[in-house]
Amino acid sequence: MTMIYLDNAATTAVHPDVLDAMMPYLTNGYGNASSIHALGREAKAALQTARERVALLIGAHPQELVFTSGGTESIHAALYGTLLAGTGRRHVVTTALEHHAVLHTCAFLESLGYSVTYVAPREDGRIHPDDVASAVTADTLLVSVMSVNNETGVILPVDEIAAAVKARDAAVLVHSDMVQALGTLRLQLDQRQVDLASFSAHKVHGPKGVGALYIRRGTPWRPVLHGGTQERERRAGTENVAGIVGFGAAAERLRQHWDDHQRHVRQIRDVFWDMLSARVPVERNGGEPSVPAILNVWFPGVRNDRLLMRLDLAGVAASAGSACTAGSLEPSHVLQAMGYEVSRVHESLRFSFSDFTSESDVRTAVQHIEEAVNALRR
Ligand code: PLP
Repeated sequence: MTMIYLDNAATTAVHPDVLDAMMPYLTNGYGNASSIHALGREAKAALQTARERVALLIGAHPQELVFTSGGTESIHAALYGTLLAGTGRRHVVTTALEHHAVLHTCAFLESLGYSVTYVAPREDGRIHPDDVASAVTADTLLVSVMSVNNETGVILPVDEIAAAVKARDAAVLVHSDMVQALGTLRLQLDQRQVDLASFSAHKVHGPKGVGALYIRRGTPWRPVLHGGTQERERRAGTENVAGIVGFGAAAERLRQHWDDHQRHVRQIRDVFWDMLSARVPVERNGGEPSVPAILNVWFPGVRNDRLLMRLDLAGVAASAGSACTAGSLEPSHVLQAMGYEVSRVHESLRFSFSDFTSESDVRTAVQHIEEAVNALRR
């Protein structure tokens, strides 16, 4: 059975061109980028090309990027690295809508004696820049706000937040989890006030286990991993050369096909939603502004775990929130924070699209969803 994969916010398929770019570094080009012989120099040059490609896509200088093992590590390095650079301030501001990579790290920081404020959305379900800025105190070191929510696709007003925070205190640093913004928003970091940003390759048809942390030049930050001079002494450890090359190839592909990619994903989302909402009682969770790659849908009266199971049997992959909690199907903290009733949260599913998703995929998926919903509502 071929799978209809509508869970691209969890991860994406590696693009064949990305795999082709990686293969030489998984086979004959196995050099350590720190070695001075030819094989090492070849690996080092490949890292440099990848760094330039990712930097070009996000509008950063290549030296502002540190390659990591993914979004989670980048977020850790952003939070710990700024606290380690230590101006003595011990307060972090974040939002209730963040991924657990941020929320659980903040909870851990609290257990170490730091204080954290979790800004909640207002009644409209949105995070307001004024609320974030007014959470800033004389002790605040860092504000961490995601750019695109991974469960709803909602775009957060990071630029307005950064401006409001820095107007209050220019010394406060701003980090953004941009894992779901990569490939869905034009980032152009050189024109923005964000000091640090976290990225992951596997959401954009790159390999898993590789990501990047953007650290704007001049940002007070100290490394978390020690024991080697890699990444200009900012992240010790032999580089995942093939993975980083794959990230570079995925970034370059995105950059070259940007308009087509955006158009395709938007069209797929529209076909899916128009057909679904015409056939099944549904409501969207989240609303605009949002990225078209992610759609969170309420199916009134239908338990999401049962629907997911039926869809899985029919060969349709979707999700009830973030993949990390999908195993336990805990009600989404994001939807709850946005003010949706727990009963509604238990009846909501996330569908997410990529440029691999075809129109016939979503049409077939809607037929399966309609059958499953009708069976479950009976
Ligand atoms: N932040 C967001 C918004 C995500 O969607 C994810 C991935 O699930 C992460 C962070 C973690 O990224 P990674 O899987 O590369 O560690």
